[in-house]
Amino acid sequence: MNKISYIQLKELNKTFNETVAVNNINLEIYENEFFVLLGPSGCGKSTTLRMIAGLEDITSGEVIVKKINISQLDPKDRNMAFVFQNYALYPHMNVRKNISYSLKLRKVSHEEMEKKIHWVSNLLKIDQLLDRKPSQLSGGQRQRVALGRSLVRDPVAFLLDEPLSNLDAQLRVEMRHELIKLQKNLAKTFIYVTHDQIEAMTMASRICIMNNGNIIQIGTPKEVYEKPNSIFVARFIANPINNILTTNIKHQNHSHNLECLNIELKRECLTNRDLVYFSIRPENFYIEKNNSDMASLKVEILQIENYGHDYLISSTIENNNQKIYFRLNKFHNLIIGESINIYFNANDILLFDINSEEAI
Ligand code: ATP
Repeated sequence: MNKISYIQLKELNKTFNETVAVNNINLEIYENEFFVLLGPSGCGKSTTLRMIAGLEDITSGEVIVKKINISQLDPKDRNMAFVFQNYALYPHMNVRKNISYSLKLRKVSHEEMEKKIHWVSNLLKIDQLLDRKPSQLSGGQRQRVALGRSLVRDPVAFLLDEPLSNLDAQLRVEMRHELIKLQKNLAKTFIYVTHDQIEAMTMASRICIMNNGNIIQIGTPKEVYEKPNSIFVARFIANPINNILTTNIKHQNHSHNLECLNIELKRECLTNRDLVYFSIRPENFYIEKNNSDMASLKVEILQIENYGHDYLISSTIENNNQKIYFRLNKFHNLIIGESINIYFNANDILLFDINSEEAI
């Protein structure tokens, strides 16, 4: 991937009547990257994607592609391939015609058209389906045809709006892998909208997390998972849940005691604070002390959920009553109501400002 700005959004705004859907966002998407817009329902990700495609008028700001402002161009002149959630195939046309329709409009020669259909149907394994109508296809097959239709155009970028959300869980995993492979093979820029953090984490080269029309954080999956810049991201990128708690702080010289965990931290950011949010992910707790530096916490087991591959245990911190979740890959004969020690490393504690909720 080239870290060259390929698509740039400059102070982009979209207001529908009174609703601010997208609030003055700035971002740069690199050439050939798999860029994912992630956020809860209504956060403005589809509107952002649609403004890039020209399917939605811009209230103010600019969409720049390869240094050219395309904000006023018609969708058809932007050469962006848009893949919709509901696939939007032409129901009366068979797969072959669905795929080749845009080529026909551009008066591409018959020979060239056949070549492209052959290439794309082989690539997406839909060569056996070319004579079928969309109603005779499964969800996954329709999704492939929708992709195929966009592929033959050799677009500037692929814009995908929740393309896997109508598929069942197993097919989603398969299509996820195929999309990752496809993007690598094609070496094209993909901008992918989803509210599913697993899709974002597994597919993205970078994730842009949005909320209420604003960009909250942009980073690689590893960055947003390990270094969330806010409580919002720490909570949103969590499967199924993250621990976000508050604690009082007692100061002594250069050391600061997080009362809730009874642990001393020598972090300068804690000076002059009496209360903070902190988070430790459930997988960062252990039932055995793996090294002598680990701190311990006494908890009472509330509930044990079996996820098959591991267990999620909810508990309360003794003398504090705040809830803590931890994950174990073995059952360990835990009993609801019993008190046990769990162990963690101080390095896994993330801290957030009590007012702004931003990482400190
Ligand atoms: P979802 O995941 O549910 O598709 P989203 O993050 O893609 O959500 P958008 O569809 O971009 O969100 O919508 C952002 C905001 O703009 C929402 O509050 C939505 O209700 C509003 N909105 C979107 N389209 C319109 C429209 N055509 N008219 C009025 N309001 C709209």
